Amino acid sequence: MWGRPPRPSSEHRERRTRPAILNAVNSAAKPIIRELTTHSPEETIAFGRTLTDLLAPPKLVLLRGDLGAGKTTLVKGIASAFEAALEEDVTSPTFTLIHEYRGPRVNVFHIDLYRLDTPRELDTLALDDLRSDNSILLIEWGEKFLRLVHDRDFEISLDRVDETTRQIRITK
Ligand code: ADP
Ligand code: MG
Repeated sequence: MWGRPPRPSSEHRERRTRPAILNAVNSAAKPIIRELTTHSPEETIAFGRTLTDLLAPPKLVLLRGDLGAGKTTLVKGIASAFEAALEEDVTSPTFTLIHEYRGPRVNVFHIDLYRLDTPRELDTLALDDLRSDNSILLIEWGEKFLRLVHDRDFEISLDRVDETTRQIRITK
């Protein structure tokens, strides 16, 4: 009778704006090394194939972006360029958490931490054991863990602009 309960609008507004502010801070702090907008999965794969010099092992790279942004698609290009896998053999390690692709000179580990929540769970994967002079770790959802944010060499962020357009940014 005395009217509606207060709307939770201010809380929602805060939730919406906070990531934007964080993004602004993040991008201000990180120099962009490479940047490209792609218009198809094939273009994203082709971009991945150009990264062999930048990703010469040993490297630990965080792949950032929402589900469906194109992180796994990019790995197809990277792993195939190192002759570690055929594009079509690179699939999402969603359930197995780690896919290993062994090449003649380089081993590519594609890791998906979407299902992990705690540092203790991360420890059970023993990612340090995978790091070696000829290994590249490409990690989806690694930004959830402070240690990986600290240890990373690069971050590759993919943003979905529309159905087939992705903005890709590599930062230190
Ligand atoms: P993620 O690993 O980030 O969840 P995936 O690579 O598995 O994403 O899926 C990306 C989806 O988006 C695929 O279905 C792919 O065909 C589609 N797609 C459309 N346009 C692009 C693009 N420009 N780059 C990468 N993927 C694209
Ligand atoms: Mg993926």
